[in-house]
Amino acid sequence: MTKTSQTLFDRARQFIPGGVNSPVRAFKSVGGTPVFFNRANGSRIYDTADKAYIDYVLSWGPMILGHNAKVITDAIKQQLDKAIGFGAPTELEIDMAEKICQLYPAIDQIRMVNSGTEATMSAIRLARGYTGRDKLVKFEGCYHGHADSLLVKAGSGALTLGVPTSPGVPAAVVEQTITLTYNDSDAVKRCFEEYGDEIACIIVEPVAGNMNCIPPEPGFLETLREQCSQHGAVLIFDEVMCGFRVALNGAQGLYGITPDLTTLGKVIGAGMPVGAFGGKREIMEHLAPTGPVYQAGTLSGNPLAMAAGLAMMEELVKPGVYEQLTARTTQLTEGLQALAAKHRLPFQTNQVGSMFGLFFSEETNIRRYDQVMKGNTERFNRFFHGMLEEGVYLAPSAFEAGFMSLAHSQEDIEQTLAAADKVMASL
Ligand code: PMP
Repeated sequence: MTKTSQTLFDRARQFIPGGVNSPVRAFKSVGGTPVFFNRANGSRIYDTADKAYIDYVLSWGPMILGHNAKVITDAIKQQLDKAIGFGAPTELEIDMAEKICQLYPAIDQIRMVNSGTEATMSAIRLARGYTGRDKLVKFEGCYHGHADSLLVKAGSGALTLGVPTSPGVPAAVVEQTITLTYNDSDAVKRCFEEYGDEIACIIVEPVAGNMNCIPPEPGFLETLREQCSQHGAVLIFDEVMCGFRVALNGAQGLYGITPDLTTLGKVIGAGMPVGAFGGKREIMEHLAPTGPVYQAGTLSGNPLAMAAGLAMMEELVKPGVYEQLTARTTQLTEGLQALAAKHRLPFQTNQVGSMFGLFFSEETNIRRYDQVMKGNTERFNRFFHGMLEEGVYLAPSAFEAGFMSLAHSQEDIEQTLAAADKVMASL
């Protein structure tokens, strides 16, 4: 007998807090029962009753080739025949490091970890160890994982659940975190005027993807670069979401800004649990064992994950990949925009490459956190459930970005737009 999502969720809640292993999955903000999935292929994911959904979450970004692309599963199977892991050096790790260093000129050296959280947490420790300073600057609505010093006015699940600043984080830790408004260059300058010689680093999502999708305003990233350089602080681009996504060489390539450190995540493992942080040699050499800043990981550089990630990169470097991703995404966002106009709904979209944001909002040119917060969440929730019913899976929160894959066909987009036409008519 097919187990329904409801049956599974009831069982999950007995043994797993809230029934989920990561909060946004619980559908708390959109309401209803989370869908439990069973299998996936290309642009489609299938629930336990084998109902298909066109997927715009893509495991929160990394499935750029679509689900279960043969090149990835073949690479994993091939490695599996050799070994699952050693906790010792392998050639695959060098291949991965070399590849990323080639594609990201700002990265001279890179270290693998197992999640985005580990990547940002380690990058910040390194920035603090390198500068000998404690303060860190972040931006409201950006999410950088759940390390203590970063859970201040955070985005993503923290924002969705209304707990952007978490209990359990010591006040003494938070005191060292300065939170500013994303895209507010003047605030950054004022902050550096006051605390310039105490600031270890700025960490920023160069394209924000955890308060929906917010592109940087012209001059914002430039200001961050300039202020960090002037005051001897480390500029960290958190490209866990936008790396290899908005462009082959990330937001730093797209906007032509060179950060000192970069964090990468899920994408470089093609969906396997991976993260990484890298940057200037001079800074990276402060890491153990060459330097005194400690950081480690039993499973880091896992061969299955390296094999999967490398196989994906081989595909991503092929000509036309990013053009196709962007064109399909534009087809979707423009299509949705036209439908919203037809149904007289206040609606905006943002798009950077194959990352997009949908806003049921009167606001135009949405570039700031306070504008995001003015969106009609209740209408989004009804749209979300309507689309789910029609077989389209969007992120279960008004504060998350959406993603396109190479497996999404013209017909997939048309089917999605037909569903949206029907659902918008009922909003
Ligand atoms: N940084 C950014 C920009 C993210 O989007 C995320 C997660 N979506 C993280 C860090 C944390 O990554 P993880 O969930 O793998 O710990």
